[in-house]
Amino acid sequence: MQLQIILPYHHSEQQLREAVREQLGYDVPFRILKRSIDARQHHNIRIQYSLTTDLRDPVEELAGGIEDQRRRLHALQPESRRPVVVGTGPGGIFCAYWLRLHGVKPVLLEQGPPMRQRVRDMARFMKTGDLHPYSNICFGAGGAGTYSDGKLITRIRSPYIGFIMDTFVRFGAPENIRYLYNPHLGSNKIRHCITRMLDDMENSEIDIRYNTRFTSFDSDAGGRVTHVETQDGERLDAAALFLATGHSARDVYALLRSRETPMSLKEFALGVRVEHPAAAINAMQYGSKYEARYEGIETAQYKLARTWKDENRAVYSFCMCPGGYVLNASSDTTGVVTNGMSNYLKSGRFSNAAIVVNVSEQDLAHAGYGGIDAALAMQKELEARFRASVNVPGSVHVVPGQRLQDFIGGHASRSLLPASCLNPVAPAPMHELFPGFIYEGLRRGFTDFDRKMRGFSQQAQAQVFGIESRTSSPYRIDRLDGSLVSPMHANLYPVGEGAGYAGGITSAAVDGIRAAQAWLWTMIEPASCFTAMSGTRV
Ligand SMILES: Cc1cc2nc3c(=O)[nH]c(=O)nc-3n(C[C@H](O)[C@H](O)[C@H](O)COP(=O)(O)OP(=O)(O)OC[C@H]3O[C@@H](n4cnc5c(N)ncnc54)[C@H](O)[C@@H]3O)c2cc1C
Repeated sequence: MQLQIILPYHHSEQQLREAVREQLGYDVPFRILKRSIDARQHHNIRIQYSLTTDLRDPVEELAGGIEDQRRRLHALQPESRRPVVVGTGPGGIFCAYWLRLHGVKPVLLEQGPPMRQRVRDMARFMKTGDLHPYSNICFGAGGAGTYSDGKLITRIRSPYIGFIMDTFVRFGAPENIRYLYNPHLGSNKIRHCITRMLDDMENSEIDIRYNTRFTSFDSDAGGRVTHVETQDGERLDAAALFLATGHSARDVYALLRSRETPMSLKEFALGVRVEHPAAAINAMQYGSKYEARYEGIETAQYKLARTWKDENRAVYSFCMCPGGYVLNASSDTTGVVTNGMSNYLKSGRFSNAAIVVNVSEQDLAHAGYGGIDAALAMQKELEARFRASVNVPGSVHVVPGQRLQDFIGGHASRSLLPASCLNPVAPAPMHELFPGFIYEGLRRGFTDFDRKMRGFSQQAQAQVFGIESRTSSPYRIDRLDGSLVSPMHANLYPVGEGAGYAGGITSAAVDGIRAAQAWLWTMIEPASCFTAMSGTRV
């Protein structure tokens, strides 16, 4: 049985138990499914619970299934070649981890270095501008997930989500991610969890190869991948190839295009990262007296969106980082890219979020970009324009910024205010750098958001930084519905965000598990399971 309970912000566990008894008329043990803050009335902020009296743990039930499959796989003649997983982001890690749980020992390739080296490379980049091409915010141990804000919320539904939360808890995450409406680890905790997870995987005979870039693959006459090649020319036998290379692996897209692997253009979004003082956002969300009324309340979040259906235009906030930092997420020296992160305590002085405008195929065509590479071409050109506005040639050290009121009014800012970004920032006329429809969408969006959150766009200390251009993949790599393989290659699995099937840590992790499981079925039930090329499970 499920129950919904609402209690005042300040309440005890005893009050929660009493509320359950009051609703049911008797005492009963329960489990919290979700806990969230309802801040619609500033003078009466409340906590909402969704509870269940069903104490069976769905993750334990999943574990029973894993054990059964593991036994069945063990009884089979093991395949001498190992599956190769490329990328140690959430998609690749959870794919390899799931395979290992079933007794399979994959090879996991990562073009960037292990965590400790990556952290050092990032610190150097922020200080000196020396960007490592394979060790940056997007690339290296843990993928983009490592420097992420660590928000684990997802819109997708999957039985694997509980398993993913449990796995993070196993590797050091706080228990509350199992039930908070907005589970959040912050960069510091997710980095710690991912490091422990990678160490554990290495200790359990997953062959993790850092600084090893996947460059090519061979396939047989039927299209099955047989070998994977690395930048050193090494050829690895491959029972299957899982490509979880993220949305910034432009060389992998180029390789797949050259092999005529079916891909399609994907709608995406572009915009800016807006930053306010965290106290200003708190006051907008909780009321100006929030500190006295709700001592210790968490740093406020927001979610804003406006759609103009007749124009097929949408503006929305994305990846909101309360008490966080604006990041320079450039992955090569051709363009500047922004993103955001926060630590677990969300205690930074500023709060930031991406504010982005949807870019459709029609928009791309109007702006002069055609064909399947149109989104990538626009992304590259704008990133280069933003780079050149404040950097010397060949450098991406400095992040362009503008005061929000100047951006909306279409004026250049003479100077910038203090900001959270750990790279240098410098004023740029960002309103002139965007194509007209994006700037206009952002300007209208900000005006609308000011009505929804009074003061959001009028706040004198608010600033924007850019360009926020890597919100999702510019392509979708085709795959068959049931088997999840590429239509061209019966054992090539495009996985995660870069393949266009995920939009965040949890959904990429789910996709990694789904792909691993799809391959496991082909091992366990080769005859009765997925007929790989048709993609149907029979
Ligand atoms: C700063 C920042 C903050 C974010 N905050 C959040 C958040 O709070 N919540 C959320 O849900 N999402 C967040 N995201 C998005 C999230 O990190 C991604 O959605 C997720 O990491 C995608 O996972 P993935 O496994 O598909 O790819 P990625 O995490 O991008 O991993 C791909 C990996 O593949 C490797 N690789 C690429 N090419 C090759 C090759 N040729 N050979 C070998 N290795 C290769 C890369 O080096 C990389 O390590 C954030 C992203 C960033 C950058």
